[in-house]
Amino acid sequence: MSLAGAHYAWGVRAFRSVRPLRSVAQVPNIPKAERAKLGNVAERYAFRANDYYLGLIGWQDPKDPIRQLIIPREEELADWGSLDASRESLVTVARGVQHKYPDTVLLLCNEDCGAFCRYCFRKRLFMTANDEVSPDISEGLRYIADNPAVSDVLLTGGDPLMLGTRRLVEILGALRAIPHVRIIRIGSKMPAFDPWRILRDERLQEALRKHSAPTRRIYLMAHFDHPRELTDAAIAGIDCFIRNGVSCVNQCPLIAGVNDDPEVLAELYQRLAWAGCPPYYLFQGRPTAGNRPYAVPIVRAWSIFDQAIRKGSGLARRARFVMSHESGKIEVLAVDDRRIYMRYHRARAAANRGKLLIYERNDEAYWLDQLELACGPG
Ligand code: SF4
Repeated sequence: MSLAGAHYAWGVRAFRSVRPLRSVAQVPNIPKAERAKLGNVAERYAFRANDYYLGLIGWQDPKDPIRQLIIPREEELADWGSLDASRESLVTVARGVQHKYPDTVLLLCNEDCGAFCRYCFRKRLFMTANDEVSPDISEGLRYIADNPAVSDVLLTGGDPLMLGTRRLVEILGALRAIPHVRIIRIGSKMPAFDPWRILRDERLQEALRKHSAPTRRIYLMAHFDHPRELTDAAIAGIDCFIRNGVSCVNQCPLIAGVNDDPEVLAELYQRLAWAGCPPYYLFQGRPTAGNRPYAVPIVRAWSIFDQAIRKGSGLARRARFVMSHESGKIEVLAVDDRRIYMRYHRARAAANRGKLLIYERNDEAYWLDQLELACGPG
């Protein structure tokens, strides 16, 4: 059977081409007057979508969560936050190479995505003046090869699955030629934006099978934010990764108007666990420029997370709620009437590793730097 004619068990076609849209003016469901206003927003913070993903929007509802995720809003122009809220520049060791924790290196290998999430914390990459990403990752590969402590490499960007298959296969092969690299992670929202990226690509599937070995796995760090993104095609996409030897987990931020509801988050977690892609991290949204309309204060975010994980089975409860702060990945453990309790899950400075942090409760705070320490680190 030809690839174009192949079907998955529940009727998902193995091949469908997805049409990209790069201008708000191309979205027919947005009224003309509104398109001009939103076009101004998109001039500052880039817009990109595709016909499949736009088809998930319930256009009759102006607050539709998929719409909030992808369609610009004028409130993005509010003066708020900074473009590099986690100060990734501090851990950038070469162009497109970040090294924050001893065992893990990030390779920013691409500055494009299947669509642009409005709340993206790396939206600076999509702005014209940015040159943080290098299409040539040879310097990153040399850096990793020279650092035997590096066992994990995260391919990110942008979205690595937007690279051409030949390039991706080369990168996977080059990383596998470095003996101390055990885990290769692919951070991607393509299973949500364009599941056919993996479903139709037999060469990529073959490379995943080859390079995801029993003792040296490839992980898909999937990015689903809302249960409506888990269409039959998206689930077939996850299944395709799993069948080709890839382990799958999901990580996403808590986003106002998208998933800031315990019922929605619980449903997302449960369905992800059913699909073999259980939740890993829930991120507190970073105070990134342009992201004001998508921000949720820490205390409210914790409460939503806490209610959501009480609803699911054990695998759906595996998520940790964390803040990717410049000093490390800080897990929010609990909140009571007076205090917020956190712990360094990963820390940049060795002295902070595992350290408990207790802050005065502040229901208005969006980020660690707005909190007042009650005690520790001492
Ligand atoms: S897919 Fe990831 S990198 Fe791309 S816009 Fe969304 S959050 Fe940002």
